[in-house]
Amino acid sequence: MDKIGVLVAFKPLPYLEQELTRRGCRLFRLWETPESPVLEFCRQNAADIQAIVGNSNYGADAAMIDALPKLEIVASFSVGLDRVDLPKCKERGIRVTNTPDVLTDDVADLAIGLAISVMRRIPSADKYARSGAWKKGEYTLTTRFSGKRVGILGLGRIGLAIAKRAEAFDCPISYYSRSDKSHPNYTYHSTPVDLAANCDILVVACALTEETHHIVNRAVIDALGPKGVLINIGRGPHVDEPELVAALVEGRLGGAGLDVFENEPHVPEELFALDNVVLVPHVGSATIETRTAMADMVLGNLEAHFLKKPLLTPVV
Ligand code: NAP
Repeated sequence: MDKIGVLVAFKPLPYLEQELTRRGCRLFRLWETPESPVLEFCRQNAADIQAIVGNSNYGADAAMIDALPKLEIVASFSVGLDRVDLPKCKERGIRVTNTPDVLTDDVADLAIGLAISVMRRIPSADKYARSGAWKKGEYTLTTRFSGKRVGILGLGRIGLAIAKRAEAFDCPISYYSRSDKSHPNYTYHSTPVDLAANCDILVVACALTEETHHIVNRAVIDALGPKGVLINIGRGPHVDEPELVAALVEGRLGGAGLDVFENEPHVPEELFALDNVVLVPHVGSATIETRTAMADMVLGNLEAHFLKKPLLTPVV
């Protein structure tokens, strides 16, 4: 990949940066020049940029793609491609790759971890122990996770991994997807509202598209109800965030575990005081093992493309 110009849209793992450099790539570090507007940066370096490495927050929109006439490939350091204009890439013959499978287990682990944290109030129990409050009395009783009905919005790779884990906790599993997968152990519901009305914990694990934007709206939140728990490890815009905040503040929803937010890194401050809410900063895939495997997948896809070999994980 000697002298291939790669626009890196986000501050990458040092390993990824080192490996791109070691392979002779010329890196255009978009994240290092926040003062320069993205399009201006692209236009200034348009003659050299043949590849973009983006992630779940920084992808390649139509204007960026238009500003880069030499662009050949977008290799995303994410499985979700909601930040990449896929129709535009198809139209221009630009290849697109993502990082499926390698992150599935970590994201599913986090979903279960969030559900247990919310229901057993682990973060506030931790604060209780550290503050010395325990000496004045026992911590409050919480709610059991084992055996509760788990509903999954989007039974894809991550959704299935969550279902598998929840089954080990004796949780009955139901799901909503665009089609009934006729799974022998899981119950299909034909609408998100129907799913929410029939589960205790609703986990968002679908891809973000125009159709799934705000798939968790007021009606879904109301169907989940004051004892229900929402877990979002999908994308922030899957959930109507003002509606979610209002429901939590007013006690119309039992709790929430959130890895993703509508306007990251902004987290609604109204949630900070709520013990029934657990907030983490989009860390679904953020383990050393997984991020290294994702970096290797990005490198493998770029190498395959520029050596004219089959891509490892082609999407376009
Ligand atoms: P996947 O295997 O492609 O699964 C995506 C699922 O979304 C499919 O089951 C699909 O089901 C469902 N879906 C698509 N459109 C839908 C619609 N209109 N209504 C209902 N369901 C719909 O992808 P994955 O690897 O499991 O990843 C899923 C998502 O997780 C990613 O797109 C990403 O947004 C998110 N993610 C988050 C993190 C994190 O750090 N929090 C990390 C990785 C991924 P049908 O085709 O049956 O409808």
